[in-house]
Amino acid sequence: MEDGGASRSPRRYAGVDVGSTATKAVLVDEAGTVLGRGLAPTGISGEKAARRALEAAGLTDLDAVPVAATGYGRELVDFAARRITEITCHARGAFAQRVAELTLIDIGGQDTKAVAVGPGGSVRRFVMNDRCAAGTGRFLEVMARALETDLERFSALASGAEKASRINSMCTVFAESEVIGLLARGASRAGIARGLVEAVAERVSGMARKVGLLETVALSGGVALNPAVVVALADALGRRIAVLDDPQYVGALGAALLCRERSANRPT
Ligand code: ADP
Repeated sequence: MEDGGASRSPRRYAGVDVGSTATKAVLVDEAGTVLGRGLAPTGISGEKAARRALEAAGLTDLDAVPVAATGYGRELVDFAARRITEITCHARGAFAQRVAELTLIDIGGQDTKAVAVGPGGSVRRFVMNDRCAAGTGRFLEVMARALETDLERFSALASGAEKASRINSMCTVFAESEVIGLLARGASRAGIARGLVEAVAERVSGMARKVGLLETVALSGGVALNPAVVVALADALGRRIAVLDDPQYVGALGAALLCRERSANRPT
């Protein structure tokens, strides 16, 4: 019996964001609806991490679906049909959720970016800090360790502090020494945690101001999962911050959507 082509599997598109710390994958259908998400630690092989993240997103047959790679390790994904810069992908992924002009702040493991996103998810302006750990997840991880805690408790400590201890250096090495010195002088761990979060917010808010604050200010990246950072950033900017849905996957979502859009014009 004829099935009129109904048995043909519907088209799907994938995006994989090979970040310095975590590799994220998103699988979408023809309409751009998310079918699955997956994450794997990047480790020493971006290519293997990409395969693992895609598998975790529900993609088992890599030949069946076009994949767009983004992120700092995108060149390592040899099976990718396309490679697209992370700024472009983040802008597209954020626009998919807000459908309006916005200033996007992305705080990842080892870089931070601010992007002014225009109509259709286009990039108007951006600044990126990818040379040092200042104002990134890595900075907070090192400081949490110096305070002998994990990231979750670090955020809770900072949120519960009555007063912040001033942290003067944003260099990870110097700031860690400052933290140890403050602890030795009897400063509270909560106050130090708050001071560290405020220092990150100050630095990142400066980047956001540089690209310009549009109507919506949105946050993505793994550090968006740290509530103390979100509050400190809102205070530093004097603006409400919209944390995007599944914030760590925004770049991978943008890559998947761009893969879908570009494949429609140029079949792979
Ligand atoms: P990258 O793309 O650079 O690998 P991500 O956007 O994936 O970075 O973010 C990874 C970072 O997010 C980690 O280094 C970690 O500091 C932070 N992070 C991840 N999950 C959490 C969480 N639940 N709470 C606070 N920080 C988190």
